[in-house]
Amino acid sequence: MSASVHRTQGGVHLHEDRLTVTSPVLMWVKALDLLMDKMKRKGFNFSMVRSLSGSGQQHGSVFWKRGARVTLTQLDPSRTLHQLLQDCFSVSDSPVWMDSSSSQQCENLQAAVGGAQILADITGSRAYERFTGNQIAKVHQRQPEKFQNTERILLVSSFAASLFLGDYAAIDYSDGSGMNLLDIRTRCWSQICLDSTAPDLEQLLGVPLPSTSVLGPISSYFVHRYGFSESCSVVTFTGDNPASLAGMRLQQGDVTVSLGTSDTVFLWPQQLKPSLEGHIFCNPVDCQEYMALLCFKNGSLTRERIRNQCAGGSWEVFSAALRKTQLGNNGNIGFYFDIVDITPPIEGDHRFDSDDTEVSSFSPEVEVRALVEGQFMSRRVHAERLGYSTRTRVLATGGASSNSDIIQVLSDVFNAPVFTIDVSNSACLGSAYRALHGPVAESGVSFFDLLKNAPEPQLVATPHSAAEQVYAPMLKRYTRLEERILQKTRT
Ligand code: ADP
Repeated sequence: MSASVHRTQGGVHLHEDRLTVTSPVLMWVKALDLLMDKMKRKGFNFSMVRSLSGSGQQHGSVFWKRGARVTLTQLDPSRTLHQLLQDCFSVSDSPVWMDSSSSQQCENLQAAVGGAQILADITGSRAYERFTGNQIAKVHQRQPEKFQNTERILLVSSFAASLFLGDYAAIDYSDGSGMNLLDIRTRCWSQICLDSTAPDLEQLLGVPLPSTSVLGPISSYFVHRYGFSESCSVVTFTGDNPASLAGMRLQQGDVTVSLGTSDTVFLWPQQLKPSLEGHIFCNPVDCQEYMALLCFKNGSLTRERIRNQCAGGSWEVFSAALRKTQLGNNGNIGFYFDIVDITPPIEGDHRFDSDDTEVSSFSPEVEVRALVEGQFMSRRVHAERLGYSTRTRVLATGGASSNSDIIQVLSDVFNAPVFTIDVSNSACLGSAYRALHGPVAESGVSFFDLLKNAPEPQLVATPHSAAEQVYAPMLKRYTRLEERILQKTRT
């Protein structure tokens, strides 16, 4: 309903330049009104809630207008938030993660700090268009009056927390790491990044807090309108990816490989090694630690293409090819990229025999194994570059994790046991876990001790005894061949 009023598609407005993507901030406010009213009508007992937390799409930003804080602290419970907050935003269309219109601002920021790697060393990522700092710089340059009229800038997550708190909520370290502004080592705003982005930004952003912080009790608006207890605590909200990590209860040394339309790798690195690829964020469940995230565009759709070309469109025939071929594929290695990837920026199919000689084709069965081994070698090589080292557990999720033959290859290439987890709504589950943890975190209770009785992932594959012997040299070859393709792409 709110989407049709705001005329969004998929919740966003794609602007004429096809690079700018925004969402009307009042649509989000209205969505919360609708959700809360629906829960009330269904008889949800809000008085039982002891604490709450939540997550928001990463990188999006909300610009509160001068004077909005006064409104936010005095909300009349007889009216909807949407009515009350109509006039509280200096920028009514919030930039969101799909936006890629701030290339100039990214270049400026990298030049100001001394290069992309230095920016990654400070903030955990090189400059990305969707990252909030670059979006803020663009608002400052293109809409200076609106910027001047701004009292506070928050992320989608801390904005949502503010609605429950009835006051501006702090940006948490973990979601704050998706801005190209936070120094992930000191967990303070980086002065050089702030100065290169916009004036007086420190004041506009407020002080960032650990992701486990209790912000305060819920606002009296929610007590009177919905029947929450006055003692219900609001725990810092965070980004959807960090909340997902909490939902998966990813531990140090674990890696999650999500095999969906795109493949995503989440990890809890042992060493802090920011790189030009991937992202490092402060960890949402332990503020001294970190998490890393890598995105691979060529995931299931590429697996489907090879399934169609080599296995008659059948996952069963595809799986049989994996069972019939040997670990290491007799030295054959393949790279399959339908579209230019993020990690690494390669396109097309590239096949190499055991002598590293490029060949034009493989037999269908060799092709299937080359694809799956190649994809998982890539996941491992790039995860290691971001600090992954010990092989404790691989947690597998997403559509292809239901295929036991694919999962066996994953286990062999990573030389680690693979567990599957149901992560449907993992960001919501993670928010519930964080709401439980926040109030006891200060007294030193660890997230994992508190949740030790939550359901455990299921062991589905263990590595073949020869796995390391086969894949250690192949991983080295894979790295070399990938570099060779990259060199060729550049020339
Ligand atoms: P999304 O990223 O859209 O949430 P999912 O995690 O639901 O995607 O994964 C969907 C993908 O799972 C499909 O594109 C399909 O290729 C893949 N998939 C489903 N079943 C199998 C299977 N048995 N073997 C391999 N891949 C599968």
